[in-house]
Amino acid sequence: MMAALLLRRDKKSTAAHLKSDLNRTDNSSGVRQLQELLDSVLNPEKPPADTEALDWCKCLIAGEEGFEEFCKTVRSYDNATLCGLVWTANFVAYRCRTCGISPCMSLCAECFNNGDHTGHDFNMFRSQAGGACDCGDSNVMRETGFCRRHRLRTGENVPSVPRDLLLMSEMVLPRFIICIIQYLRDGYTEPDTSAERDLQKVLQQLEPQITFLEELTKMGGAMRTVLTKILTNQQTFKDLSMGQEENVFAKKNYENYLSALKNSGLVSVEEKAQTGAAEPTRGSETGALGLLGAAAPSSSESNKEEDQDGQSIGQRKRVKLSSSTKDPSIMDSLKHKCFLEELLFWTIKYEFPQKMVTFLLNMLPDQDYKITFTKTFVQHYAFIMKTLMKSQESDTMSNRIVHISVQLFSNEDLARHVTEECQLLDIMVTVLLYMMESCLIKSELQDEENSRHVVVNCSEALLKNNTYWPLVSDFINILSHQSVAKKFLEDHSLLMLWMSFVSFFQGMNLNKRELSEHVEFESQTYYAAFAAELEACAQPMWGLLTHCKVKETQEYTKTVVRYCLETLQIWFDAIGFVDELAPNQVTFHLPLHRYYAMFLSKAVKCQGLDLESLLPDQEMLMRIMVHPLQIQASLSEIHSNMWVRNGLQIKGQAMTYVQSHFCNSMIDPDIFLLQVCASRLDPDYFISSVFERFKVVDLLTMASVHQNTALDGEQERPMLEGALTFLVILSSLRIHLGMADDEILRAEMVSQLCMNDRTHSSLLDLIPENPNPKSGIVPGSCSFEEMLSAVADFKAPVFELGGSMQQGMYTPKAEVWEKEFDPIMVILRTVYRRDVQSAMDRYSAFLKQSGMHTTGNPWPPYKERTPLHPCYKGLDRLLHCKTLHIVIFTLLYKIWLDHSNMSEHVLCMVLYLIELGLDNQVEEDKGDEEPCIEEHCHDSWFPGTNLLSNLHHVINYVRVRVPETAPEVKREREPPASTSAEASNFGQNVREAQVFSLVAERRRKFQEIINRSSTEASQAVRPKSSSTRWVPPGTPPQLVTEILEIHESMLSLLIKLHQKLSAKQNSLSATWLEDMDANPNRHAHGDGITAIERILTKAATRSHQSKRSIQEICGKVFPPVAPKKNSPTAKKTMDKEERRQRARERQQKLLAEFASRQKSFMETAMDVESPDTEAAMDLGASEVKESEVLYDCVICGQSGPSTEDRPTGLVVLLQASSVLGHRCKSDEAKKLPTTDEERIYPADTCGAAHDVRLALMQSFFKDSSCLQSVSIGWDGGVYVQTCGHTLHIDCHKSYMESLRNDQVMQGFSVDKGEFTCPLCRQFANSVLPCRPGRSTEVVSWHMPSNKKTSVLVKEVEDLQEQLGFFPTESNLSKEMELVIKDIKNTTQRKYMDYGKNPGSPDNDFLFMYSVARTNLELELVHRGGNLCSGGASGAAKRSCLNQLFHVLAMHMRLYSIDSAYNPWTRLTQVAPSRDNCLDDERPDVPMLFRDCPSLLIIFVLTMPQPLRKEHFICLVRMLYNLQYTQALAALSAKFSPEERQAWSTSGTLKKNAFNAEKSYEALLSHVITELSKVKTVYDVNTDEPSMLSSSVWSPQSIEYSLQQFCLPYLRLSCLLQHHLYGDNLSGCPEEEEFSGLAGCLGLLDPAPQPSNPMYSASCLDWTVSAFDLMSQWCSEVTGLADTQAEKSMTLLVQDLQWASPHLLHLPDNYNTIFQYYHKKACTACKKVPKDPALCLVCGTFVCLKGLCCKQHGICECVWHSQHCGAATGIFLLINASVIIIIRGHRFCLWGSVYLDAHGEEDRDLRRGKPLFLCVERYRVLEQQWVSHTFDHINKRWGPHYNGL
Ligand SMILES: [Zn+2]
Ligand SMILES: [Zn+2]
Ligand SMILES: [Zn+2]
Ligand SMILES: [Zn+2]
Ligand SMILES: [Zn+2]
Ligand SMILES: [Zn+2]
Ligand SMILES: [Zn+2]
Ligand SMILES: [Zn+2]
Repeated sequence: MMAALLLRRDKKSTAAHLKSDLNRTDNSSGVRQLQELLDSVLNPEKPPADTEALDWCKCLIAGEEGFEEFCKTVRSYDNATLCGLVWTANFVAYRCRTCGISPCMSLCAECFNNGDHTGHDFNMFRSQAGGACDCGDSNVMRETGFCRRHRLRTGENVPSVPRDLLLMSEMVLPRFIICIIQYLRDGYTEPDTSAERDLQKVLQQLEPQITFLEELTKMGGAMRTVLTKILTNQQTFKDLSMGQEENVFAKKNYENYLSALKNSGLVSVEEKAQTGAAEPTRGSETGALGLLGAAAPSSSESNKEEDQDGQSIGQRKRVKLSSSTKDPSIMDSLKHKCFLEELLFWTIKYEFPQKMVTFLLNMLPDQDYKITFTKTFVQHYAFIMKTLMKSQESDTMSNRIVHISVQLFSNEDLARHVTEECQLLDIMVTVLLYMMESCLIKSELQDEENSRHVVVNCSEALLKNNTYWPLVSDFINILSHQSVAKKFLEDHSLLMLWMSFVSFFQGMNLNKRELSEHVEFESQTYYAAFAAELEACAQPMWGLLTHCKVKETQEYTKTVVRYCLETLQIWFDAIGFVDELAPNQVTFHLPLHRYYAMFLSKAVKCQGLDLESLLPDQEMLMRIMVHPLQIQASLSEIHSNMWVRNGLQIKGQAMTYVQSHFCNSMIDPDIFLLQVCASRLDPDYFISSVFERFKVVDLLTMASVHQNTALDGEQERPMLEGALTFLVILSSLRIHLGMADDEILRAEMVSQLCMNDRTHSSLLDLIPENPNPKSGIVPGSCSFEEMLSAVADFKAPVFELGGSMQQGMYTPKAEVWEKEFDPIMVILRTVYRRDVQSAMDRYSAFLKQSGMHTTGNPWPPYKERTPLHPCYKGLDRLLHCKTLHIVIFTLLYKIWLDHSNMSEHVLCMVLYLIELGLDNQVEEDKGDEEPCIEEHCHDSWFPGTNLLSNLHHVINYVRVRVPETAPEVKREREPPASTSAEASNFGQNVREAQVFSLVAERRRKFQEIINRSSTEASQAVRPKSSSTRWVPPGTPPQLVTEILEIHESMLSLLIKLHQKLSAKQNSLSATWLEDMDANPNRHAHGDGITAIERILTKAATRSHQSKRSIQEICGKVFPPVAPKKNSPTAKKTMDKEERRQRARERQQKLLAEFASRQKSFMETAMDVESPDTEAAMDLGASEVKESEVLYDCVICGQSGPSTEDRPTGLVVLLQASSVLGHRCKSDEAKKLPTTDEERIYPADTCGAAHDVRLALMQSFFKDSSCLQSVSIGWDGGVYVQTCGHTLHIDCHKSYMESLRNDQVMQGFSVDKGEFTCPLCRQFANSVLPCRPGRSTEVVSWHMPSNKKTSVLVKEVEDLQEQLGFFPTESNLSKEMELVIKDIKNTTQRKYMDYGKNPGSPDNDFLFMYSVARTNLELELVHRGGNLCSGGASGAAKRSCLNQLFHVLAMHMRLYSIDSAYNPWTRLTQVAPSRDNCLDDERPDVPMLFRDCPSLLIIFVLTMPQPLRKEHFICLVRMLYNLQYTQALAALSAKFSPEERQAWSTSGTLKKNAFNAEKSYEALLSHVITELSKVKTVYDVNTDEPSMLSSSVWSPQSIEYSLQQFCLPYLRLSCLLQHHLYGDNLSGCPEEEEFSGLAGCLGLLDPAPQPSNPMYSASCLDWTVSAFDLMSQWCSEVTGLADTQAEKSMTLLVQDLQWASPHLLHLPDNYNTIFQYYHKKACTACKKVPKDPALCLVCGTFVCLKGLCCKQHGICECVWHSQHCGAATGIFLLINASVIIIIRGHRFCLWGSVYLDAHGEEDRDLRRGKPLFLCVERYRVLEQQWVSHTFDHINKRWGPHYNGL
């Protein structure tokens, strides 16, 4: 009742009233009233969309003051010392590695910019998952990095909060929150019960309420405390959450809540009971099948339960489940004790709505809350996993989860706290395990039928979509804390649990080699598999390893190693592996092996543990080596194309396995593990295993023919190479065997740089992360940068001709090539085979350049190795075993005899092995080796195991078994004997008999083959020989034993190979060894000959016997070079080879020529700045003086004149351009604004000034006259460009037709007439017809004339009176009209219509002559704004201006100037004062207002063609008079009245002098007098300009000013003359430009004018009285009506000088631009664009691709390009730092003008390092813009469909 009353009252006053009631000592009535009010206001049965309740709450909380005011007050009590700003995805934040303690540390832009990070390793980044600012949190970052605000600890100075301020909040908010919770409860429906999930709908309705909560959290510490207290108070929760039994609604939705809770556990109560009953009925097979989670997802839970007791599933499963049950609470359903818990619960259920997440995160600066929240989060962890797996939007949800968890787990104290109190580690591992269990399948590795091993199924969504990553990344995150990691490593049951988790990935994604058919469908599961191993297995491993670096942690390592071995043992048992590998299978995933390997490595390297104590017995070692070895063999098989039928994906796996992000977690541990095995196992066994795995055993016979049961012929050579290369890698790689971390980093860097020059970022990416983290603080380790500068030189970004841009590159230093280039490391690290070649090419280029090796191709250099760590010494025995030596001997022999399938690579690797053996001697330890010697047949080959002594051992006879002939085949088919016999051979340990059976089997097979080629003597020695007992399955029995006579030693074979390679007999003289000693260094680099010499020298210096034997062999005279057997065929192949080679060379030469021709065309076309370089293509006019000009057609290749019938045309590109219009007065570029204060004013551009001038004229004068007094085309004028190539127009038409039919995608649109020049491929869109030219005319044009000027003036007048001559209709004239149409279509209508009657002939006339003007002006701009640099006449021919003028003139003939208004008369005659002003008509534009260059062009174009040069000169002269007078008038306007008076007076005196008409003083005085006749002219602006120019005018400054005024006219005239008559432009110093040009135009005597520098007046040439004519012109101005006269000064003082066009001036640091523009709102749509862009021409800010600013179907960027640049736009994409160019309907990515400290672009700001303006690149961009060459230089254009 009370409430009803209150409800009716005004909210504000109610609030005030209640507040005062509550403040009383007895506040019971107030409390009651408030409760009643809230009961009725906060009724959850009302729809949440009704915001009345929300309004009430706001008012109640705020009290009498408004809510806004209340917020302010509360904020003033903010005592927070942390920033804690929470952001969501896409927010721009910073990370400083120098300041960060946790790698996850991040800062908001404000805190970053207010902190001091100079010189720190920081970067900007775009948040992926969202985050929060860590400023002020010393757990996460160093205090030095805090910003000013958070360093000051503001909290200490803040007054405490007055009690009553938040009283209402404390009372209202609990009710408000429970209300929200009730909505959430009510809105939730189990997804499977209702068809439609309307969670989103519920959330949408709740949006205002949640937003309100979020707002509250932003009010600072005071309000946060209130909120966190409410959220964590258990009593409040208990009272409000369920204490409303009487309310039906509340009861219903409480039940809803309970049912939702029930499903929250991993195992629900019902299921537990159920499965207990169901268990016995399940058989063992179904149990296993039940694991196929995918098949039966709904029952997966019950299956899991069953596993618990099931006998069926492998041991490990039992292990895992028994240990996970130790803490049932992890799997139980949840119970909530406070609001926070339930809120988080619903947040998860509703799949992490963004607002809720930020609400919960915003309170984290409150430390107590943070702890409670973390605990709550951990408590819900299993539930989160469950929800995540069910979610449809797992990506979004993953991001939101990590957004939260990163905040909680990055803090070590907190992580440790929850680990201790809430069993965080148990929870995480269990949850991960459960997650993976949902997608297990039976492993098919080894034994498809009986395998008991289970692996993850990589095609499941969980793996394919990487759904597990948030959980894995949390796990990695907490393991990064030492204290937490220790807990993990100390807990054995956790470790076991983790190992069983890892074993789920062991052997996943099994590949089976396809032998018959190509796979139908290439599975892409390998991505998932590699990602899973890296993220779920390797990353946690690296995390754990960082804590096992010191002696003190030995125990941890021992434990891990023990569990690894145990789990491996279980795995071998489960897959049923005994000794033989199932054929044609390979998996790249052996995480258990790799865990074992890496912990071993760390134990030896860092913890000083004895390797022996960590190794298993020999049997286990032999098993362990099998799978990694199989991967190495498979790599070779894959590269030998034996897996082609499996598709491309198998190559993908091979490449990923060695790729930089994977190699240190995959191939490196594998190689290391094999090295460990090799160092401990019998070397003969190991070597023979390798050759067997590589399937090349059959190949290793000395017979010339052999059979291979395993390989096709073409696979033998690559597989043999692979096996040998692998052995070289195995015995020389030291990454885990003794290299220090710095050495590893150096070797990695060198190998990457040797493959290719690298940018800093790509190098960073290519260097494996471990053991040297590339970033972050690793005390004591050499930094990446230091190392880089030690091994590489920086090559600054340079430009290649043609505009392609390079980035800054690092290239190896010379001494690196000389001393450190390691081909073995390169081979290990190459993903693409071509990289090895590339490294070798670069190496040989270096040797050539430095003169170290100049002939032929060098061999990979031999490199000495870091000494082995003592633990691994055994590895060297590999190089000193008889088996290897037999192989080496056999191969040397076969190479010498040119047997098939031998290659240089094989020899190279064999030599490498020999040299490695020589350099790595084994201390003779007879005890080990001796016992076996007698037992093995191959011992008859060599007496001992030492390579040095075996080298000179001579083998005399060898028995080989060859196929065909001879029937005597002994078949002794005894069954394989019991293994005991062999076992005793090794004899140490009878218990291991089993193992030795494995050895015996493998070895027997190998021996069997080796023995086919055993020496004769061996037959006798061979004891109960095992060789013949074992017959390989496919071996045909008809092999025949033969005895070969050999009589060679390895040394003699080496010497023979030396002769063979050098193609000289006796290449080594008997005494060469002595010569050798003198200079040992010359052997470091060279070819095979050098390598052999080096080996022989080493052998000789290390053994006297070898030395003697070498000398002996060399002393012998050999029969003329070795075997000549197959020389005829060799010769034949050689010939063939040679011929092919020659043909290839010829072809390449041709191609190169063509390329250079094309290139020079390109250069010519682009070369606008230096016209003096002679064109490669000359149209030939200058040579063919006497006859017609001939043109080559680039399509049909014919050459001929252009005729009326069959015209030829120039390939041209027409484009609209506003470059001229964007010029400014100032030569300095405008600055791009980067603050709100800065602005760009467009009014002072050339285009705008001309628009204003024309508009001003049009407001006073006759329109048609105005349109002849100016030029347009400053904005949107048409620029015509040619590559200089010509073609028949009919040929062009058929060419276009063929393009149209061409189906191939082109970068241009044929329908718009676009094509590329058939010769030079330059972009073009029209053809400009060539004038049929006769060179006789050229001569007559040049005829010097002695006619008097007055005669010429008359002639010109007559010519102008001639009627328009209409050419006869011909193909040529048609084409000319067509190109005119093209020109008009090139630009937009608005750039053509300036008249009052759009489309009128006057307009057309103006547009046409302005096209000529535009092209002349642009040429001037390209020449640098003046004509001082000169230019030969040849340059004119590359320009198409001459042809363009002709076409325009033909078109202009259609118009004639009404003789009554012909300006010529007014220019040359003193007319009787004409009654100019008819009443109704506006006057003509006075001559003094007219633009002289425009008039010149008009005259030239409208007179009959060809125009004689004398007439042209006459035009120039007469117009110069006018121009000069205009200059005088403009000058006089700049004078102060006094000065004007003075000059007027002084000049009058000279009027009567001789030559007064050529005296500037007299003329100036006359102009002043004439213009002063009407007061208004000078009166208008008496104040301003005169006041400004305080300086006094001198004769010199007057002359200078006059010259400057006339120069633009002279330049244009001169340029026109150059194009029309082919005159050379003579260069001159800039200060003499005026006289130079005047001389060139014949205005001035070309002879130098020594005494008088005042020549501007002497160029005048009057045909009538100058004073009269000037009076007439001035009277036109003074005769105007007053209003018009007022503006006349503006029109008189026109400024004709424009600076060269510039793009905006950009700041040096990109951050300046980015910070201002990335959050700036668009002026059009008022929103912050998603993709903001900036016009670099005018600074306009636009929404790229934004629908918000789209108009008429055109997005803003394209729209702007049309208006700002007449369809050319240059935009800087703010968020990408990249520039895009829009040209018409196409666009391209140009690149970036901002580079980082390493000279690299950072597209999309991915690295976020500071970027700086590359001035040179920006200059190139500007130059391409000014020269209109975007189309030609940039290649990758695409259509934009108006969507940018
Ligand atoms: Zn901050
Ligand atoms: Zn801060
Ligand atoms: Zn810093
Ligand atoms: Zn042709
Ligand atoms: Zn061309
Ligand atoms: Zn613009
Ligand atoms: Zn916009
Ligand atoms: Zn917009």
